[in-house]
Amino acid sequence: KVNVTNLVKNYGSNHVLKGIDFKVANNEVVVLIGPSGSGKSTLLRCLNKLEEPTSGTIVIDGQDISDPKTDIDKARENIGMVFQHFNLFNNLSVSKNITLAPVELGKMSEEEAEKQARNLLETVGLEDKFDAMPASLSGGQKQRVAIARALAMKPDIMLFDEPTSALDPEMVGDVLNVMKKLAKEGMTMVVVTHEMGFAKEVADRVVFMADGNVVEEGTPEEVFDHPQNERTKSFLEKVI
Ligand code: ATP
Ligand code: MG
Repeated sequence: KVNVTNLVKNYGSNHVLKGIDFKVANNEVVVLIGPSGSGKSTLLRCLNKLEEPTSGTIVIDGQDISDPKTDIDKARENIGMVFQHFNLFNNLSVSKNITLAPVELGKMSEEEAEKQARNLLETVGLEDKFDAMPASLSGGQKQRVAIARALAMKPDIMLFDEPTSALDPEMVGDVLNVMKKLAKEGMTMVVVTHEMGFAKEVADRVVFMADGNVVEEGTPEEVFDHPQNERTKSFLEKVI
């Protein structure tokens, strides 16, 4: 589904990604871990071209997204992204946040989009917030709306960049539960998170990055219980 080969990203003389090979299979949940500054966000942002790679290839659903002939807006429609800070449109109601993209991009009528928004809000446990404004929501509720909004485009892959890092601890579980549900339903997901419990329970594969490289990857058991690389070991000692 996703096939990243020899991905390099430099910001001037700062070599952030140093030749990453990274694959995600259909229906797979990959959890990306690693120290601050290792390049996790940059990798995610390259996948939907929020960042332009310096070199390397990224193929998603058979489409080379670095090929100038590829319609990147079309490709992006199939990639849902959820950020640490929600990035909701604060001047729009919850329902408008969710219906905006599919209606504007001609994917569905206003009525269809609203019906879908009700279903999605039910999925994330916020069916009573249809008319609410984002400012009236807690952080955890905002993040669940952000997930519903991403799902409204019917993406076939979802990227999560530390979706629970900005939340009060008591909000984290609700958001992780929504993500677990998505994973169970077969959504292909790449999740950057420090929630090792989530990784152990939900990930098919854990990828450990350090200093712009993929250092180690494997099943949660392999990476968490039997890490091979010294850097993986010392990182896990700090976070678990
Ligand atoms: P964190 O866990 O703190 O979120 P990360 O693994 O997501 O870290 P990145 O955000 O990908 O790390 O950053 C990797 C490196 O790239 C850092 O050294 C950062 O300073 C640098 N970097 C990221 N974005 C930019 C940018 N727009 N311009 C210049 N340097 C950048
Ligand atoms: Mg980051």
